[in-house]
Amino acid sequence: MNAHKKVALVTGANKGIGRATAEQLAALGMTVLVGARDARRGEQAAEELRAAGGDVHALTLDVTNPATVAESAEVIDERFSRLDILINNAGITGSGQVSPDQAHDQIPSTVDLDMVRAVFETNVFGVITVTNAMLPLLRRSSAARIVNVSSHAASMTLLSDPDGPFAGLLPSAAYTPSKSALCALTVQYANELRKDGILVNAVAPGYVDTDSNNHTGFLTPAQGAAVLIRLATLADDGPTGGFFGEDGPLPW
Ligand code: NAP
Repeated sequence: MNAHKKVALVTGANKGIGRATAEQLAALGMTVLVGARDARRGEQAAEELRAAGGDVHALTLDVTNPATVAESAEVIDERFSRLDILINNAGITGSGQVSPDQAHDQIPSTVDLDMVRAVFETNVFGVITVTNAMLPLLRRSSAARIVNVSSHAASMTLLSDPDGPFAGLLPSAAYTPSKSALCALTVQYANELRKDGILVNAVAPGYVDTDSNNHTGFLTPAQGAAVLIRLATLADDGPTGGFFGEDGPLPW
């Protein structure tokens, strides 16, 4: 193993923004681990990225399944002894996840609580599971970075403005608060890990054309990935405990 080659793990990297992020990190010369809950989909994405010249390997990792997360950490330990970059990208929107009848119903007063739990399980608790399993490996890096993929919709400042740019968004008791919780969690990890030089930030990729929004987004996955790459490759004096979009800091 090349001791100077950075090792990066991207969760939910078999498609969408995660896959584009894996591709861009590989293009920067890093060893990239494509986390995917479905082994076949992960291997297929890794194969395609290898065919394009990347040093890319698949890891079967379901963020809601602690055993797969622990196994992934063991594999990284055995093969690479450390982790330099963790991108907590895996996420679900929740609409229709539990019952097709509930599709697109995240309205607080009528929401299906099981769907809310499922969304928080992936978007919030899954991030804690993965981050804590990977922290011993990240602590062995000389410049560890953690990027949590949130959303503009997580911004309570932007969403509470009735005349703001997000005034038209439907109220949500699941996806949107899960991403606000992820932002809150980002600050807590940043505060804990500041003394260790591990920089932890949340990012909003923008409205990106992926399966998660039935391809209604106007940015390409590569464009959405740009801000993830920027925060994953911060210099040692870079920010920690912040929330960033492509144009710079975002309000909480
Ligand atoms: P996507 O194409 O649906 O990709 C989501 C990825 O997460 C897929 O690889 C999916 O795997 C994976 N995933 C879901 N649950 C998982 C689990 N339990 N364990 C491991 N992986 C899991 O969506 P995307 O738009 O690229 O979303 C990526 C991130 O960006 C998400 O956190 C999303 O909330 C965030 N985001 C997206 C937008 C946007 O406009 N697209 C805007 C703001 C934020 P499967 O293929 O197995 O389902």
